[in-house]
Amino acid sequence: MKQKIILAAVVLVVVGLFVTGVLNWEKTTAWARRLFYQGRSTVSRATDFSTPQLGDVDAARVCRDNLRRIESAKRKVAENKSMAVGRLTWDEIRGEFPGGKIPTCPSGGSYSIGNLGTMPTCTVSSGRTGRPEDDHVLINY
Ligand SMILES: [Zn+2]
Repeated sequence: MKQKIILAAVVLVVVGLFVTGVLNWEKTTAWARRLFYQGRSTVSRATDFSTPQLGDVDAARVCRDNLRRIESAKRKVAENKSMAVGRLTWDEIRGEFPGGKIPTCPSGGSYSIGNLGTMPTCTVSSGRTGRPEDDHVLINY
């Protein structure tokens, strides 16, 4: 019973605020609508399987190319060392890149060299969407 009275009082106060013009109906609904759309776009961004942004796709393409070059350098150095298993260091493969510069991820991810027989990886990994176009993953070499 007490709760009903409190609820009625709250409703009365809110209605009173609108009637007296303290709260503006237009502004309040605009605010509610904005809150709703913000919430919805956050949800849809997390579950977005639609087209990734072009910048992301380009960056992912460059990144996958970098991973391919790293894998290529690993294989070459491993062959020269007659290594079939184990792990090379960045310094061991550095000489395979122009100017000794290991390529870097355009999206700021960092690379893990991976064991021989394992592809190098980027920390950006699956990108922002569920689609493969923006993945920073080297699947086949
Ligand atoms: Zn990357």
